[in-house]
Amino acid sequence: MRQKRAKSYRKQMLVYNHTFKFREPYQVLVDDQLVTETFTSSFDLVKGLKRTLQAEVKPMITQCCMQALYETNNQGAIGAAKEFERRRCNHNPKEPKSALECLASVVDVNGKNKHRYVLATQDIEIRRRLRRVPGVPLVYMNRSVMVMEPLSSASEKVSREMEKQKLYKGLNDPKFAGIVHDEKDEQGAESQNKPKKRKGPKEPNPLSMKKKKTEDSKPVSTSSSASASASASSGKKASTSEADDSATQSKNRRRRKHKKSGEEPETSPDTIQ
Ligand SMILES: [Zn+2]
Repeated sequence: MRQKRAKSYRKQMLVYNHTFKFREPYQVLVDDQLVTETFTSSFDLVKGLKRTLQAEVKPMITQCCMQALYETNNQGAIGAAKEFERRRCNHNPKEPKSALECLASVVDVNGKNKHRYVLATQDIEIRRRLRRVPGVPLVYMNRSVMVMEPLSSASEKVSREMEKQKLYKGLNDPKFAGIVHDEKDEQGAESQNKPKKRKGPKEPNPLSMKKKKTEDSKPVSTSSSASASASASSGKKASTSEADDSATQSKNRRRRKHKKSGEEPETSPDTIQ
């Protein structure tokens, strides 16, 4: 039962993200009644909001709701609400508006939830008023359980229209069609892979270059041509000839070293003398 609810909330938040461009952390406007109720029932409001919305949240309270809390003189609830970010509603603090009026003015900006608020309120009238605005997640406490209202008909209408528009665009403009887009993406991925594939055949070249180096380093030019002819005749012979070559090479190197080492002591004393 609880899991089922969590799943439906997750789906619902996806709609708010997708259709109404909600982003984490969700800004949650709480009213004074909810703060008082959760405090008196020692329900962790922030934790509850996180669990219900299944995301990071930023709880906020308007100046008017804060004023209403001060009047209750419930120090615990006031202390809890002070932790929240204060939402400036620009209503006169000496003449605070009712929670309904204040929250409606903050959430409903020309019929839209401009600032993408989640509204957490115990007041049925406030919820009823803001159901009319599409894209307002409504949260409240049902006894000791925090619940989220199902998508309002206003929200559902906008969501449906958006889906329809996408479909309509898709039929007329291939750019908006999911399939074509995917193909393009795949092509893009292929084109990205292509240079990698091109790099592939280039890789053996450095290896062949290494072989060439060994051939170049060979002292006698005729031996390289001989080995080439040997490799042409048979693989085994080529390998043996190469081994021989390498052996002669090392010998040559040794000889060179010997010569150099032999020469050096001869020349150096001469220069000294
Ligand atoms: Zn206000």
